[in-house]
Amino acid sequence: MDRKKVLHWIKANYRILTAVFSVVFIISTYMIMRFAVTHDRTAWSHLMYIPIITAGSLLGPWGGIVMGIMAGIVAGPLMPISNDPWVPQFWGDWVFRMLMMIFAGLISGGFGVLYQRSRNQIDDLSIKNMDSGLLNISALEKMALEKGKIYTLASVIIANYDSICEVSGYHVYYAYLKDVEKRLKSRYPDLAMIQASHHHLWILKPSSDFLVEIQVFLDIFHQASQMDEQHLFVDYSMGFFLRKHVQETKIANYFIQPDMAAKEARNKNLTHMIYSDFDTNRQFEYELLADFQTSLYDGSIYLVYQPKIDFKTKKPSGLEALIRWDHPTKKLIRPDQFIGAVEKTNMIHEMTQQVFRWSLAFQKKLNEKGVFLPISINVSTRNLYDEAFFSKMMAILKEYDIKPKYVELELTETVLMDNPEMSKKALELFANEGFRIAIDDFGKGYSSLAYLAQFPINIIKIDRIFTRQILINPTTQHIVKATIDLAKQLGYEVLIEGIEDKETSDLLERLGCQSAQGYYYMRPKKEDEILTYLLQYK
Ligand code: C2E
Ligand code: MG
Ligand code: MG
Repeated sequence: MDRKKVLHWIKANYRILTAVFSVVFIISTYMIMRFAVTHDRTAWSHLMYIPIITAGSLLGPWGGIVMGIMAGIVAGPLMPISNDPWVPQFWGDWVFRMLMMIFAGLISGGFGVLYQRSRNQIDDLSIKNMDSGLLNISALEKMALEKGKIYTLASVIIANYDSICEVSGYHVYYAYLKDVEKRLKSRYPDLAMIQASHHHLWILKPSSDFLVEIQVFLDIFHQASQMDEQHLFVDYSMGFFLRKHVQETKIANYFIQPDMAAKEARNKNLTHMIYSDFDTNRQFEYELLADFQTSLYDGSIYLVYQPKIDFKTKKPSGLEALIRWDHPTKKLIRPDQFIGAVEKTNMIHEMTQQVFRWSLAFQKKLNEKGVFLPISINVSTRNLYDEAFFSKMMAILKEYDIKPKYVELELTETVLMDNPEMSKKALELFANEGFRIAIDDFGKGYSSLAYLAQFPINIIKIDRIFTRQILINPTTQHIVKATIDLAKQLGYEVLIEGIEDKETSDLLERLGCQSAQGYYYMRPKKEDEILTYLLQYK
């Protein structure tokens, strides 16, 4: 048996061991007093205090009292002891001795309890987070994992914990976490939930069915956010990983993979990811592309619209169509997450045509209500390089019987820089028909307005990276001002993207921008909401 096991066994059985030790000690003392021939046998009775104090300290006051009584009796009525052998003791002597012994047992028991209590408190503080009461990383390190056993590991990042605390208070946030823990433990009593930092949790459970456990964890986090009437919006991402416990290592290191998976899920705007799933992004893109074709026609891919605001009239002067994908299992996926992948395939042509159809159908709806505003769609590089692009778009336009001046095509400057000849030819075809052409995200690339002058362009959309810094950075202000002035001299309209507050809006109006787009005016919305909004301005 190794040393650790022996210590563990002693710890587990210390009460019974203490009792046995004390009784054996008392009996041995009796033997010494009774049979050892010494000058004064009563002197030996003081040995009795050793088992009494030991029992009191380790078993508590009652242990001390019981041992005190036992020792008192053994050294009292059972002990015909005196300087003259076999002469019974005077009863008052042994009763007094017994009372002293009981008192010693009681006092040591009391101190034993106090000591144990403060030890428990210190132990508790060292393994728990003081604010939430949830286990901390030291508790995790103290856990005895079973060698060879497979564990389900989960890492949970709560991205909006700041705003939960600001809006609802810390107590609500911690109540949510405690509730999650309670639900998890009532479902899986052998599970441990660790709070690694304010917004970061780890869960560890001996694995039985990995996929079921993932589902249960997800369900519980969701259910707990529905507590009371006060539905909490908790923006969490989880990463999962299965791992065998092989040797004594830092258990916290086991969470590297689930942490990575959780971060990846967060980046991809998903509720969860399994570590093995994402050794490369390819897996994710592959899955997306497999679903893309169906989603394009079953309603899970659709358009939202964001108004462009004219600074002079303070009214909407157009709309931008932006694509959305409500993926059945991967939550809402942002365009930047899938357009790149789609652009690598021929599906990008079908996507742009479908976007065009939807925007024209919406335009028709608006026209029927008496609203006439250009709607812009985003066009990919690969679309423009497709020889048949123009004719396909024209065919669609004819189907809907909409005038080209109500269509704006947004292209990024990189499209025009990569293949200027081909882009120029394609854009001229559209411009001659009366389409409006916009340069999207201007300033993000390295083209100059002088270079762009060779293309038939109506409007320059200044990228939102400038908007973000303009209030604090005077250099940005100068660049934007110069860009606006030059663009206007070249005959372009200037729109600024990404306005999120009034100060920026006012400043850009002063700098000479003609229109703007941004969350400050309106976030991209679905058709119905946009229609209601536009009808106010009719
Ligand atoms: P974009 O064309 O520059 O579109 C503007 C993006 O900025 C949109 O993001 C919009 O939601 C966001 N935005 C608008 N106002 C604000 C604001 O005040 N603050 C911030 N932070 N963002 C704001 P979204 O919809 O995620 O689209 C991202 C990009 O994906 C678009 O950038 C566009 O390049 C591309 N995209 C979107 N829909 C389509 C499409 O149908 N076809 C193609 N080829 N690309 C698309
Ligand atoms: Mg755009
Ligand atoms: Mg843009």
